[in-house]
Amino acid sequence: MDRITKERALEYLKSANLLDLGEAADGMRKSLHPEGIVTFVVDRNINYTNVCINQCTFCAFYRDAESPEAYVLSEDELFKKIEETLALDGTQILLQGGLHPDLGLDYYTDLLKSIKTRFEINVHGFSPPEVCYLAKKHNLTIREAIEILRQAGLDSIPGGGAEILSDRVREVLSPKKIKSGEWLRVMEEAHRLGMRTTATMMFGSIEEPEDIIEHLDVIRSLQDRTGGFTAFIPWSFQPGNTELSKESAVRPATAIDYLRVLALSRIYLDNVRNIQASWVTQGLKLAQVALRFGANDFGSTMIEENVVRAAGVSYSVSKEDIVHAIKAAGFDAAQRNTYYTIIRKY
Ligand code: SF4
Repeated sequence: MDRITKERALEYLKSANLLDLGEAADGMRKSLHPEGIVTFVVDRNINYTNVCINQCTFCAFYRDAESPEAYVLSEDELFKKIEETLALDGTQILLQGGLHPDLGLDYYTDLLKSIKTRFEINVHGFSPPEVCYLAKKHNLTIREAIEILRQAGLDSIPGGGAEILSDRVREVLSPKKIKSGEWLRVMEEAHRLGMRTTATMMFGSIEEPEDIIEHLDVIRSLQDRTGGFTAFIPWSFQPGNTELSKESAVRPATAIDYLRVLALSRIYLDNVRNIQASWVTQGLKLAQVALRFGANDFGSTMIEENVVRAAGVSYSVSKEDIVHAIKAAGFDAAQRNTYYTIIRKY
């Protein structure tokens, strides 16, 4: 089958019949995952600090260092969270935080080492903005920074901080944040070092359809070169409590927009094996529908989630709820690890 071009993808995004698009994406999902299994990972988001100098306009989570709500988790708090995760059969922690002006590389490497000496758990952590921040702060190349973190115990890198990989859009959403090229460079270096990462996209803010296609295209090109992305996770901007929501140009995504972008992602990213449905932002019901629009994975059980919750969106969901939702949508449910290996069927 010929690969879909940027021009054709743009046309589909703008005007294809939604159900036709969904059918094509579902067909592709079926050919990649003919066994009819939808996977999920049991993990916990641990945000070690909410202090961040970047002040992205779409973010409701960050606080200034002087804020009474600012925090840095103690090791004891963090260990307790990991113990609870393991008790619930968790296999991974998603360790991410703000760019705290007082935390340097030693903090990160000590943290990783202390986790890895105590627990058998995959540390999926430090998205590209954190990696670049550390590299800059300590005069290291991106590759050197990743190598140091990896040696200390970092296993894989989450695709956070991508938003839309178009610098025109980033200039408005997150002018202090790393540019598209830096995000891609972190991922490429990590892949070249043999690490696996995910890729994300946050849409439904001020981007144009062309920006979404550009984003998908740079992910596809990098994946052609390295093959290091395990999954793609598109999700929509959650406007609550954010600076950006005051902008008149913001067009929050509807359920239909979400399904359209999800289906197109499945079709365009023919070299990325897994597409995640985002129940955290869309709710379980739409996530079920997403399984017929190209998604084959339900993401994480998210024993704890703080970032989307800060924007006023919070769905309380247990592992049983996820299994039930997957089965009710007509699939078998299975728990997987970070690398999409199935470890338990339900
Ligand atoms: S999105 Fe990340 S980098 Fe931006 S302000 Fe929030 S915590 Fe900081």
